Amino acid sequence: MSNQQYSFFKSVEKSFDKAAKFTKWDKGLLEQIKACNSIYSMRFPVKMDDGRIEVIEAYRVQHSQHKSPCKGGIRFSDAVNQDEVMALASLMTYKCAIVNVPFGGGKGGIKINPRNYSAYELEKITRRYTSELVKKNFIGPGIDVPAPDYGTGEREMAWIVDTYASLKPGEIDAAGCVTGKPISQGGVRGRKEATGLGVFFGIREVCNMKDVMLKLGLATGIEDKKVVVQGLGNVGYHTAKFFREHGSKVVAIAEFEGAIYNADGLNEEEIFQHRKKTGSILNFPGATNLAKSSDALELECDILIPAALENVINEENAPKVKAKIIGEAANGPLTPEADEILAAKNILVVPDMYLNAGGVTVSYFEWLKNLSHVRYGRMEKRFTENMNSHILSQIEEASGKKVNEKEKQFILHGPEEVDLVHSGLEETMISATREIMEIWRANPDIPDMRTASYVNAINKVATSYTELGIFP
Ligand code: GLU
Repeated sequence: MSNQQYSFFKSVEKSFDKAAKFTKWDKGLLEQIKACNSIYSMRFPVKMDDGRIEVIEAYRVQHSQHKSPCKGGIRFSDAVNQDEVMALASLMTYKCAIVNVPFGGGKGGIKINPRNYSAYELEKITRRYTSELVKKNFIGPGIDVPAPDYGTGEREMAWIVDTYASLKPGEIDAAGCVTGKPISQGGVRGRKEATGLGVFFGIREVCNMKDVMLKLGLATGIEDKKVVVQGLGNVGYHTAKFFREHGSKVVAIAEFEGAIYNADGLNEEEIFQHRKKTGSILNFPGATNLAKSSDALELECDILIPAALENVINEENAPKVKAKIIGEAANGPLTPEADEILAAKNILVVPDMYLNAGGVTVSYFEWLKNLSHVRYGRMEKRFTENMNSHILSQIEEASGKKVNEKEKQFILHGPEEVDLVHSGLEETMISATREIMEIWRANPDIPDMRTASYVNAINKVATSYTELGIFP
């Protein structure tokens, strides 16, 4: 299928319709949930370093305002188009509903390859994009809150918050207009690794479910599971890191230029450094090169994590996938055709809109921090430490025994911001996994976990609309 014919938004609608059949909601209400409420397509000129004027194509889509603000990243990629931004915005609505983050879905995109621009040009593009959003009231802590996505990060978020704040003097909550900011600009500790850590928590919970593992013919738990990760960007890197640190073996890593394999396991940080030095992940000492990056998707493994772009597993390569579990760390890495082929092969697909929700969950924590103007842990850390110290000394006195210094430090430790953020994320991903699995177990006609996730999302968004009284 050529890219021109393929509509990502249509494929999201197709998955939605498949799930809607398992719900009791009115047809009109379902149509409203599916539709993108506001689409802002813009063109603006930017003067490049060589004096040339370039017309930039960009978008912001607000899929749903059933909760405010809208929330979702901004991507910089030359593949950006309106259909893609619409699809990604809808996925954000469902994602937020599933993890109980009280936002509507949104997404933005600028059609540029950031590698082709200087830092100064990127800053001008980002700031101009932000002022276009301000002009049309498409950004603000109570309206629409962007975040990083493919091709953007902390640096771009800092430019956005600075532009917004300068156009809105005196707005006390200005820092909450965007998330994924550097700590010094109101960011939260733990945001950077959030999506990868969320992917890890989600898959770990699935692997801890005995009935699910039994059906797949796998042992319970994530220890010694063989993992393949496609993409060594922020999400892929951190996913690989958490799996490795918790006893899984990351046997292959893929990037644009190819893939590498080592049955004994790879260390993502060493590979990252090797790529920085040589410009490629290939020829990593001790690993075997795979000629094509996509070859990694067909390797023998327990868990396959596509953590790059959409549609990488489709009807052509799905029949060749040998993994038992696919964890969609990227947004939309599987086509609906691939979904059906994999379900028939009894491969469990853990869907994107819930599995990669770690980013937006921690964005929610960052937004709350910005609105409350206080760092997490600031009020209770010392109090908890004093209390723990008191309890420990009472126990030591009563038992006549003393704990060793290492244990003592562990028991006394009061929560820092990063501890609270990780713990909030762990709780969110565990509860979301359990909720989805409960829906699936309760209705065995639901064909796959993606459909069960959509059912969960549809029920929550529809309930919210109904309780607003718009659809009595
Ligand atoms: N871009 C991320 C996503 O697709 C994060 C969005 C956010 O934090 O708002 O989920």
